[in-house]
Amino acid sequence: MKRAMKLEEEKVYEAFKQKFFHWFLTYEGYDNFSSVIKELLLLLKRELMMEQVSFFMFDPLSKTFYPEAMTELETSRSPFVPSDLPVDIAAIADDEQRAIQFCEDGEYTTARIFLHLSEETIGMLQFVYPRHLPISEQLLKKIRQDFSMLFQKLRIISQGLSNEKRYERLHQFAAKIHSSMQIDNVLEEIVNTLKQVYPSFTYRLLLSHDNQHCDYLPIKTLEFDESAENMAALQAFLTGRIQLEDSISLRRSILYAPIKGGQGVYGVIQITAPYIMKFPKKEINFISLLANTAGSALENARLYEQSRRLVADLQLINESMHQLNTNLRLQDAIEFMVKQIKQSFCADEVGFFLFEGKKRKLLPGSTPFFQSRQAKKYVEFVERKLKAEMDIIFVGDADVQASPAVPVYRSLMAVPMVQNGAMKGICIVLHHKPYHFTFEMFKLLQSLIQHSTLAFMNAILREELEKLVVTDYLTKLYTRRYLDEQLKQSMRHHTFGTLILVDIDNFKQINDTYGHQAGDEVLVQVANIIRTNIRSSDIGARWGGEELAVYLPKVSLATGISVAHRLAEKVRTGTHPPVTISCGISYWKKNRLEEVDDLFKRADEALYMAKRTGKNCIFVKDYVHQYRA
Ligand code: GH3
Ligand code: MG
Ligand code: MG
Repeated sequence: MKRAMKLEEEKVYEAFKQKFFHWFLTYEGYDNFSSVIKELLLLLKRELMMEQVSFFMFDPLSKTFYPEAMTELETSRSPFVPSDLPVDIAAIADDEQRAIQFCEDGEYTTARIFLHLSEETIGMLQFVYPRHLPISEQLLKKIRQDFSMLFQKLRIISQGLSNEKRYERLHQFAAKIHSSMQIDNVLEEIVNTLKQVYPSFTYRLLLSHDNQHCDYLPIKTLEFDESAENMAALQAFLTGRIQLEDSISLRRSILYAPIKGGQGVYGVIQITAPYIMKFPKKEINFISLLANTAGSALENARLYEQSRRLVADLQLINESMHQLNTNLRLQDAIEFMVKQIKQSFCADEVGFFLFEGKKRKLLPGSTPFFQSRQAKKYVEFVERKLKAEMDIIFVGDADVQASPAVPVYRSLMAVPMVQNGAMKGICIVLHHKPYHFTFEMFKLLQSLIQHSTLAFMNAILREELEKLVVTDYLTKLYTRRYLDEQLKQSMRHHTFGTLILVDIDNFKQINDTYGHQAGDEVLVQVANIIRTNIRSSDIGARWGGEELAVYLPKVSLATGISVAHRLAEKVRTGTHPPVTISCGISYWKKNRLEEVDDLFKRADEALYMAKRTGKNCIFVKDYVHQYRA
């Protein structure tokens, strides 16, 4: 052993101290303890001509050392990391006699210097140097003394500086996330800040809500199972307090900080620190501050998103109701709602059904799928559930047995149409992917159906009423719908008949010259002429506007033509102001396989010819010929 400190050695050490002082004055990165130590070790290595210098930090909880910094090796030797450190290390460091230990290994000597200051073990400095290097124990003792103090002081300086930097970062973080109203941005900023403050830690955000966030963020949905590895996270979430999970055997420590806002806990930040056996109190304080800031920002962003969605939903409901209240016909109203629902929820199929006694009727306007046999299974599935639960139906992964050849729908929503407490029908919405619809969508659908049911029921009532009304209010002739029905019946039960379409000539001019009121009166005069000049079994109807129609069941074409002439003559002479009419006549006979529509079409074509050839005349359109009568 080289006990006494030689003069030569003393000079080298003094030179090191000088260089250290110079380095200390010029060095800038005191906020990072590891880098400071690394720099210091490099200086030591160079000045004392060591092979390798390392520093191991002492963890009082586990009473173990972990590597904090070490220099690269000059040769290709593998780095010297002690695995055989004694267990009663604290006692050794305390003991002046054992505080410096040597170990010879081939051509190298390893010296371990345990640093200790006022009852506290700080760490271990390890030198590896060529055996022939004359280093005295005296020098190592001196180094031990100096470095115990130096490390302690450096630690305090760098901690102070890094704290300052951190709180500055926290401040920036708070300012940034509070100005962001987007959940994604807030989450990203949490992750970025953590990365900057704790670059060597790993972390995850465990969120309670199913977020559709970007893939590059370390985000997981918080599981609510009580598995052992999940307990601490759940505990943090449920109690709103930081939880620690130290694992000595795994040489790491995990911290769970709840992301807490004013109204609740939104998730948990999981921070895993390797090597650290216990999070120091002030780290916990800092993380807790960060988590709380994140919590309130996340809450703001969520509330903002929620309110935006609510406004959008209200707008949709409002616009839809506005449309429905414009007295649309039922089919148009259903078509409109189907379009809205398909658009708003990206739905594949939308069907509206009406319950009539025990039967259900598919309303026209629903998507065509609902007419298929396959759809029956879905409708029956809904009806079964409806009977069993008497409630709304919202299924994320519907188990409807369907054959593989046809489209399969996994997501299903069904909302009953209720009026005055009675279930009038149901709306079914489908999507092929499972869990496609969110609960928010379902709630919106409910509102839409609730609001539109009244409009649908009104449209149904109006159309039923229209069916009941058989006379036109102005002319007191039959309605077009009644004429339609009577024609259908006649074509079923009789063998022939004649249809006359009547249009008043230049009627617009009457209105323009004498006013609308006078126009109405003329229209009534013409209607009266028709009514009083046909038999009671004939049907005089208002076809629409100033166009009238006369159907003569079991009347031949020849008779029909003479009726038309008679009417035209009476109108010519019996109206004030005088008007003329043009007529188009068609005729049907059994076995011609004609429909009501064909009969109307031919009469209309004849009328068109009458108008084109100068008006005030009568045209016939036969099955093949068209001629003036
Ligand atoms: P045309 O000889 O080609 O039939 O000429 P027109 O002016 O009679 O025909 P057009 O189709 O151009 O105009 C029909 C007019 O009849 C326009 C419309 O204002 C009027 N009209 C339709 N229904 C009524 C009604 O119930 N009362 C009144 N006063 N006018 C009506
Ligand atoms: Mg006219
Ligand atoms: Mg007309």
